[in-house]
Amino acid sequence: MTMDIGQPEYIPISMINALAYCPRRFGYEFIQAEMLVNEHVAEGTLRHQGVDLGGKEWIGAAVQQRRVYVWSERLKLAGLCDLIEERAGQIEPVEYKKGRPGRWASDHAQLCAQALCLEERLGITIAQGAIFYFATRRREVVAFTPALRATVEQLAAEAQRLVAAGTLPPPTDTRAKCRDCSLQPLCLPDELRLLHGTRTDAWQHDV
Ligand code: SF4
Repeated sequence: MTMDIGQPEYIPISMINALAYCPRRFGYEFIQAEMLVNEHVAEGTLRHQGVDLGGKEWIGAAVQQRRVYVWSERLKLAGLCDLIEERAGQIEPVEYKKGRPGRWASDHAQLCAQALCLEERLGITIAQGAIFYFATRRREVVAFTPALRATVEQLAAEAQRLVAAGTLPPPTDTRAKCRDCSLQPLCLPDELRLLHGTRTDAWQHDV
């Protein structure tokens, strides 16, 4: 007997980062649940363990709460915030990343998705959050602008559409992203582009 467990209703917030970076990356990491664990991924996991301590504590004038589970029924997103800070009545999510600020705004989309979930849970508006990059040991403040919020809403809808379709999207047109992508040995984007040229219908045979 086969059992149809259906489409997962909620998408992990971290997958918004993958989708903002490249739809095919989202396809590998979520639709096919594949992830190459290379040294960069492993290092990122280890560094995250430094903030995975849980609990609530006062740091200076701020209250910090680590590892907070949030979700949005509207966007069908769910996941963990690394850190939530409350300072002078203002709440901000803080995300930790192993590298340095990238050229692409996928980290910003992930952080904003956390904020949208938090807003829905708490019934508040969150103006900004921050990303702490271990490589530079600096915090980048991210304003949750109407444009960024709209991008996250589009990504959440696109994630549901891609999961329902169940096929791997084609490689991104932004080739520079592939050079920084840990999935390149699995994805072989250049080879696929060479094989299929610009025929969009051809991608359906790659899954
Ligand atoms: S290698 Fe390029 S096309 Fe493939 S998943 Fe990574 S970014 Fe996307």
